Amino acid sequence: DTIGADLDRAVNAWPDREALVDVPSGRRWTYAEFAADVERLAYALIASGIAKGDRVGIWAVNCPEWVLVQYATARIGAVMVNINPAYRTHEVEYVLDQAGISLLFASLRHKGSDYRAMVEQVRPRCRGLRETVYIGDPTWDALVARGTPAPFPELSCDDPINIQYTSGTTGFPKGATLSHHNILNNGYFVGELIGYSEQDRVCVPVPFYHCFGMVMGNLAATSHGACIVIPAPSFEPKATLEAVQQERCTSLYGVPTMFIAELNLPDFASYDLSSLRTGIMAGSPCPAEVMKRVVADMHMQEVSICYGMTETSPVSLQTRMDDDLEHRTGTVGRVLPHIEVKVVDPATGVTLPRGAAGELCTRGYSVMLGYWDEPEKTAEAVDAGRWMHTGDLAVMREDGYVEIVGRIKDMIIRGGENIYPREIEEFLYGHPKIQDVQVVGVPHETYGEEVLACVIPRDPADPPTLEELRDHCAGRLAHYKVPSRLQVLASFPMTVSGKVRKVELREKYAV
Ligand code: ATP
Ligand code: MG
Repeated sequence: DTIGADLDRAVNAWPDREALVDVPSGRRWTYAEFAADVERLAYALIASGIAKGDRVGIWAVNCPEWVLVQYATARIGAVMVNINPAYRTHEVEYVLDQAGISLLFASLRHKGSDYRAMVEQVRPRCRGLRETVYIGDPTWDALVARGTPAPFPELSCDDPINIQYTSGTTGFPKGATLSHHNILNNGYFVGELIGYSEQDRVCVPVPFYHCFGMVMGNLAATSHGACIVIPAPSFEPKATLEAVQQERCTSLYGVPTMFIAELNLPDFASYDLSSLRTGIMAGSPCPAEVMKRVVADMHMQEVSICYGMTETSPVSLQTRMDDDLEHRTGTVGRVLPHIEVKVVDPATGVTLPRGAAGELCTRGYSVMLGYWDEPEKTAEAVDAGRWMHTGDLAVMREDGYVEIVGRIKDMIIRGGENIYPREIEEFLYGHPKIQDVQVVGVPHETYGEEVLACVIPRDPADPPTLEELRDHCAGRLAHYKVPSRLQVLASFPMTVSGKVRKVELREKYAV
């Protein structure tokens, strides 16, 4: 199906159920109202000269218009290009140019970012950009007013409709080109596996610009008739819990660092979160302690862990609603319907037996069409057999559940020993003075690399010392894994999708 046809199905089935709620502004849409606004915007895009295959950019924080643009572009077969709201002029100029964007939707401003001023700066150099429409501004109303009913173009579910950039955790982000078939199916199956129905209300504090928000959030919700709830334009722990309470959300999303921030709110216990049943945690490894509290204190007994990447629409592995705590903390679940996974020796490409660590590869409907206009990079990532090489190290257990060991790029090699930061992070997490911890390898004269622990202390006035950490590890971790350096920090460098940029920690603290 195409995304437009799928939306029609939801509207026919549940015209009066809520589709979208924006908590900050109090605006609400039923499915019928939402589809009508999508259609009006689609007509306006056609009237503005946007044809099938043309690129329409969106550089905005979370807001209902983001969702309208997502469905309106899909409806007419335009290729929506998601631009990270944290980007500044240099990066946005690159994307506008690289993707050949002719119409750009942008936020006006958010938290000190003046998007209009930034667009004005780059516009003279971006000659392909014909028009910019600001959300919550007369330019938006003028665009919408321009539309008149016109026939929508003939679409195929294999048409490209979206360029999504990867998080840029390990380097420069890459633009994955995705089809209706890629992301609509993925959203549908992700929602299916956590039992979504028209009764569900899904709180989405993760950015829409990223696949977590727009596919696992928006598409998973609308393909099951559920409601999308926007708690705030960008992540705020308080606003998120307030939205869950006010809107009686049944499902809550986040990367582990977001759940940690919510659980650590001083007034956490005062929120009524009893409406929650499920949710999705994804994007980076979840410490077991956090998962336990999410299940026990946030009522998310059916919470799911998902593993995926932008290039695969994104999800390929997911825990099931009735999995036990061990599978939800020790693994990222098992393969989704109609997707294949294998673990290979990264050097030879030979498939490894269950239980052995190697590079995870995935194949199926979810593998991207390719990186936009970068055939060489596509060929490096997707092999001739259409297997996506993820760059992640994984172990497949006997029961088919997969453990993510870490990224190949994050592995620390100290004196010939392979060290997986995740294992040390899990261990240090149990230290009473540690709120959050990241372990990275930094250059060392003799060993090649040594282990650096970057720690956010629970009490900034009483951070742990290196001695204390080493005592904590002594006799319980192999000597080569014990951190030899400690850096106390107030926060970690993050991507907008909420991941820690270890690459930055490595660069900054390499001496
Ligand atoms: P870039 O490719 O630009 O460096 P990125 O890989 O972080 O950034 P995304 O596509 O947003 O960009 O994220 C995919 C990656 O996130 C995966 O390859 C994996 O390393 C990590 N990841 C996703 N889900 C999980 C999970 N549940 N547990 C551990 N890691 C995960
Ligand atoms: Mg990646």
